[in-house]
Amino acid sequence: AEAYNEAVTSAKSLNAFILETPDHALAAAAQADADRVSGDLKPLSGVPLGIKDLFATKGVQTTAASGILKGFEPVYESTVSARLFAAGAGMLGKLNLDQFAMGSSNETSAFGNVISPWRRSDGGNAAITPGGSSGGSAAAVAARIAPGVTGTDTGGSIRQPAAFTGITGIKPTYGRCSRWGIVAFASSLDQAGPMARDVRDCAIMLEAMSGFDAKDSTSLQLDVPKWEASLSSDIRGKKIGIPREYRIEGIPEEIGKVWDQGIDWLRDAGAEIVDVSLPHTRHALPTYYIIAPAEASSNLARYDGVRYGNRVAPDGGSLADMYEATRAAGFGAEVRRRIMIGTYVLSAGFYDAYFNRAQKVRALIARDFEHVWNDCDLLLTPTTPSAAFALGEKSDDPIAMYLNDVFAVPASLAGLPAIAVPAGLNSEGLPLGLQIIGRPLDEQNVLNAGL
Ligand code: GLN
Repeated sequence: AEAYNEAVTSAKSLNAFILETPDHALAAAAQADADRVSGDLKPLSGVPLGIKDLFATKGVQTTAASGILKGFEPVYESTVSARLFAAGAGMLGKLNLDQFAMGSSNETSAFGNVISPWRRSDGGNAAITPGGSSGGSAAAVAARIAPGVTGTDTGGSIRQPAAFTGITGIKPTYGRCSRWGIVAFASSLDQAGPMARDVRDCAIMLEAMSGFDAKDSTSLQLDVPKWEASLSSDIRGKKIGIPREYRIEGIPEEIGKVWDQGIDWLRDAGAEIVDVSLPHTRHALPTYYIIAPAEASSNLARYDGVRYGNRVAPDGGSLADMYEATRAAGFGAEVRRRIMIGTYVLSAGFYDAYFNRAQKVRALIARDFEHVWNDCDLLLTPTTPSAAFALGEKSDDPIAMYLNDVFAVPASLAGLPAIAVPAGLNSEGLPLGLQIIGRPLDEQNVLNAGL
């Protein structure tokens, strides 16, 4: 109880949780005791996890950190959370995030920003962002409030916050984890994954979360490998590609340094380092910021004040007035920006110039990766182009914010598994991360190299 109270206080000061659900976690703990007695322990028996508030949890408020869903209690459980609970885990609470998972700093949440437990060693006490969109998830693990949490990653939302907070997170191959019951952002990109202190914990969680689900039409009909049992730090003979297009001009020197450090680590472990090229890399970010808002604008059409969430109906107004008032009141500024970009690029006059073009470039980016696997088994890159920044530092500059995702989105567009692992601290004492990208379905080698 003492540890729990301490964790609650700590959680409150970071604003990591939108809702605490201690009874759920305690019930799982009691069940774990019973299972131990009957010799029936499960992989996650009694483990208190945090669940990103993008996962529908039956009878428990699910908001996507948006005003439009405040108070919404789903009548069903997302497949991923249901599987974690079936594996014995309990839920500490629903974790804060960027509104509808749109953001890189957790500042677009309608429930207030999350504060990272990290501080700059020299820079006074400026509050630092944990990253986003899985900012509450990252902060909860980094502050040791939860040993593991769920995240979702559309264009970096597991990997970037993991890098910013010195923890580990993996986005599996698109289709490994069911999207059923996860509030949709950009359906062709959205993937759930675990965030935890280390690779092994991620492997254990990912095994429980993955697997075919008939309720998601893009779910892969494949058995879940025994990732944890097959974990091995032996990467001798593996070819690690270093994509030269990721050496972007203008990014801080410390990012290049941590990358070189990672190259040395893998070489010392017996891997072969090869220089490779992914020629379309520089088009990935603009492509992502067309495709993701386009899909979002379509997915978010369902929040109309009728089917889901909250309604604002002006007296004597028409149906259109109700839609307008509901959506204006319920969606935050970043969400409205994405809807406007999305509807613009999908509109009849601009569809070919933007959306169609972006789809073609996406195919080229995916092809870059297909070719690169002839030359290497895995790719090593930095996770982010900088360490975590202070709250407010980029909130008025969407482009600067979007640049955070520059190393994360290529793997998202290609649907590839990618892990973010901590790689030390910068000169200000803030964490930096490295990313390992693998072939489709090759989570095992991604995890092994991360180990
Ligand atoms: N930061 C990116 C965005 O704002 C990625 C978000 C995500 O992966 N959910 O779209």
